[in-house]
Amino acid sequence: MNFTDINPDHAEIRDGVAKVCQQFPGEYWRKCDSGNLYPEEFVSALMKEGYLAAMIPENYGGSGFNLTAAAVILEEIHLHGCNAAACHAQMYTMGTVLRHGSDEQKQKYLPKIADGSLRLQAFGVTEPSSGTDTLALKTTAMRDGDHYTIKGQKIWTSRAAQSDLMLLLARTTPRDKVAKKTDGLSVFLIDLKSLVGKGVEIRPIRAMINHNSTEVFFDNVRIPANSLIGEEGKGFKYILSGMNAERILIAAECIGDAKWFIEKASAYANDRIIFGNPIGKNQGVQFPLAKAYAHMIAAEAIVYRAASLYDVGQDPGVEANSAKMLAADASWEAAEACLQTHGGFGFAEEYDVERKFRETRLYQVAPISTNLILCFIAERVLGLPKSY
Ligand SMILES: Cc1cc2nc3c(=O)[nH]c(=O)nc-3n(C[C@H](O)[C@H](O)[C@H](O)COP(=O)(O)OP(=O)(O)OC[C@H]3O[C@@H](n4cnc5c(N)ncnc54)[C@H](O)[C@@H]3O)c2cc1C
Repeated sequence: MNFTDINPDHAEIRDGVAKVCQQFPGEYWRKCDSGNLYPEEFVSALMKEGYLAAMIPENYGGSGFNLTAAAVILEEIHLHGCNAAACHAQMYTMGTVLRHGSDEQKQKYLPKIADGSLRLQAFGVTEPSSGTDTLALKTTAMRDGDHYTIKGQKIWTSRAAQSDLMLLLARTTPRDKVAKKTDGLSVFLIDLKSLVGKGVEIRPIRAMINHNSTEVFFDNVRIPANSLIGEEGKGFKYILSGMNAERILIAAECIGDAKWFIEKASAYANDRIIFGNPIGKNQGVQFPLAKAYAHMIAAEAIVYRAASLYDVGQDPGVEANSAKMLAADASWEAAEACLQTHGGFGFAEEYDVERKFRETRLYQVAPISTNLILCFIAERVLGLPKSY
């Protein structure tokens, strides 16, 4: 099936990513999924071709791509049935490092991230008792001379066990001592791997999908003061602007998933003969797929609009949030239609539908749940009272 390419300038990127993905068929992902294995070979292959250094500027050894090109990479990965969850953090954490990191931090880390000798794949925001309410997080980082001491716990930190570095959000000023409630949180770029066993403990979480998520415990962990990104106390602001990039990139993954489901279901609906006809001849089978397609292309348009606004230096909160919600809904609708089209075979592992179905369900919840996006639009765009 040919999907209209709304970014024809990126044909070369799409071809290159497709070549990598073709080496990793469904069989590979099934094996990783059933064994809870990190898709190391896939991540290394993408790294080797330079795709994980997409957003690192050329003067630090990266490709210097903009967010639109990075979104194209992630969409292409997903439309081939692969999953970028193993490595996408390297793209969405980059906004915070590039916009707010010091020259010293960039010189120290970016060339190594670009050549693959260091991985920045862990993003520690969520905590067990604060969840979506980021400002209520309890992990503290207290200044002590030329060090900070970190104490607390993160949860659902994906890829912590596979990452050398972590972007960490922690409280540096108690909540009742800040002038503005968004102040008092700070972002750190820390050498996570070197701290394991020195106060850092990483425990895997078994989950519905193979996402390499973990709990990370910090027991009075000392980190150098120059791990701080930007200004102390302003971390929430930095993370929020990075989150817009994250939402746009995740939305592009949803578009890739939706395309995969629609293509897979259409092929099956043409092939599967029941009552002497292909099942796709029935409008009851056709219409859910046609509807999913229409919703997918509408979502795709807003995803790339949000990306282009980000690329001209704006912080498109409304577009990024809307794109994330609409694309997640489109992928979930396509997943449902694809599973239904496959009937009982949709439940068989060898078709990959049930795995992708589970994987795409995540986007209704993470990195931000649909309810919270609706809260944002209601309050910020419609001017309605804040509900929480
Ligand atoms: C597989 C996986 C990987 C993840 N990876 C990472 C990661 O790498 N790093 C990281 O920091 N986090 C990660 N997360 C965490 C993820 O971002 C959170 O799960 C998500 O933000 C929701 O937080 P919560 O689970 O605590 O839900 P809660 O905040 O407890 O919310 C539970 C439900 O209540 C609803 N709700 C809460 N408040 C309101 C309100 N005011 N109005 C309406 N509805 C409301 C929510 O919409 C949600 O449906 C991951 C999660 C998963 C499942």
